[in-house]
Amino acid sequence: MQSKENSWTCVSKILLLLNIMSDSGKVKSVAIIGAGPAGITCAYELARYGIRVEVFESSGEVGGMARTIKLWGQEVDLGPHRFFSDDIRVNNLWLEVVGHDYKMVNRLTRIYYKGKFYYYPIKAFDVLLKLGFFTASACLFSYLSEKIKPTKQEGTLESWITHKFGKRLFELFFKSYSEKLWGIACNEVDADFAAQRIKGFSLGEAIKKAMGMISKNHKTLVDQFAYPIHGTGMVYERMRDSINNKGGKVKCNLPIKGVVKTNGVANGIELENGEIKFYDQIVSTMPINVLINSWKDVPKDILSYTNSLRFRNTILVYLQIDGKDIFPDNWIYVHSNEIRTGRITNFRNFPTADSEKTNTSIIALEYWCNSDEPIWAMPDKELIELAKGEIKTIQIINGAQVLNGHVEKIAKCYPIYNRNYKVGLKPIEKYLSNIKGLTVIGRNGAFKYNNQDHSILMGILAAENIAKDANHNLWDINTDYETYQEKSSIDATGLVILK
Ligand SMILES: Cc1cc2nc3c(=O)[nH]c(=O)nc-3n(C[C@H](O)[C@H](O)[C@H](O)COP(=O)(O)OP(=O)(O)OC[C@H]3O[C@@H](n4cnc5c(N)ncnc54)[C@H](O)[C@@H]3O)c2cc1C
Repeated sequence: MQSKENSWTCVSKILLLLNIMSDSGKVKSVAIIGAGPAGITCAYELARYGIRVEVFESSGEVGGMARTIKLWGQEVDLGPHRFFSDDIRVNNLWLEVVGHDYKMVNRLTRIYYKGKFYYYPIKAFDVLLKLGFFTASACLFSYLSEKIKPTKQEGTLESWITHKFGKRLFELFFKSYSEKLWGIACNEVDADFAAQRIKGFSLGEAIKKAMGMISKNHKTLVDQFAYPIHGTGMVYERMRDSINNKGGKVKCNLPIKGVVKTNGVANGIELENGEIKFYDQIVSTMPINVLINSWKDVPKDILSYTNSLRFRNTILVYLQIDGKDIFPDNWIYVHSNEIRTGRITNFRNFPTADSEKTNTSIIALEYWCNSDEPIWAMPDKELIELAKGEIKTIQIINGAQVLNGHVEKIAKCYPIYNRNYKVGLKPIEKYLSNIKGLTVIGRNGAFKYNNQDHSILMGILAAENIAKDANHNLWDINTDYETYQEKSSIDATGLVILK
């Protein structure tokens, strides 16, 4: 039995060796554009398989939107970063990199709406108590009428949420927030956004959970998460170190202009200074529209679909507050229309090694906008004043002093799922899939509203496609991807297999 197993291991090693060789008989070389979770995971995995890998990152650091920055002597992320996956491959990789250097964090998130704080996920009794008997009854009534006469599903965010929660709750708890986030009306946003993010969650389920009738947690209901002791970016910094140790290269401050094709096959990258470097394979996580626009031979319809894809920007205004226990939430969703920010994160409740040593707290207010909105061009000083005024209105820091302010702007933060966006995206996917030598992954790379776990999975499977000749359809991840793996989660002891 043992010798049979040994011979299989031997065969798979030979197959892997054959796969990692290029036609010229040398070890394959792969260039990866972008050192965010998708790109750096792919590089980490390829380096493990023994492939020669070079990562090109336009910014000064690795981690992309999941990087951690040093601010006033503390480590903070770009907005709240809660890692969660039930995919055993993603969790195993995360634990391999993080080791024991993480803490379990209790999640507390609330919604601020018209002067009151409501628990999120919605708790039936909390809503009943705070909305008052009449409004709460109206919500329940509209939820029940939805069950009797469901809203016609038009594939929009509005019809999807109304169907799940009823019209009144949609108007109270979802409409204003979604419109702040996307900058368009909810009947212009594709239902995919909700289907990906709050799949399987319904008011009926929330009520049952509140009554202790169910214990199974859905994605939006997860109330504990594992957080690295040096912030989310620690994961990707460690991956970078491992790639470098295995002979790979991660190069920062090197923006890539585009992917070079020879006879229709992607085999190089062009640096900003015009220099061209050749490789056997290219993996791109740069925004899909920038990639496609770098070519001159794109069919007209593909170009037109590409140029109709839109992204939303984020401005993060960080404030240093003199005080330790300012509010208990990890983050607060701000639904009230009279307040411009959409979410406030309290990094004190994402405990890092440094944050526990100080008596100050860092919070961040998020503002979502398009590049042509005045707020995007607003000077940092004015943004800090805006944020200071808003926390005063919401009254969340109990009169504590604001010591400092800092602004981070992230262009192309969210791919916008306009209604029917897939009509254009599908032909783009097909067009890119037919370019040999090219793999396109990541949140902006593949135009998917990815969390870290989706981008990590894309990185793992892209590496398997290259090194093992696997045939994973990477476009399906975070859409229709069915995993036949065991379900798992991470707790204080490590990996837990879910039954
Ligand atoms: C405010 C906020 C909150 C979030 N909250 C969570 C959360 O709670 N949980 C969670 O799991 N995820 C969260 N995310 C999402 C998470 O950050 C992303 O899913 C993840 O960073 C996507 O990784 P990626 O590699 O696909 O893309 P990115 O992180 O965007 O990485 C792409 C990289 O490519 C680089 N690049 C782009 N163009 C070029 C070029 N031409 N040349 C070279 N390099 C280039 C970029 O600089 C970037 O480093 C949040 C994101 C934000 C902004």
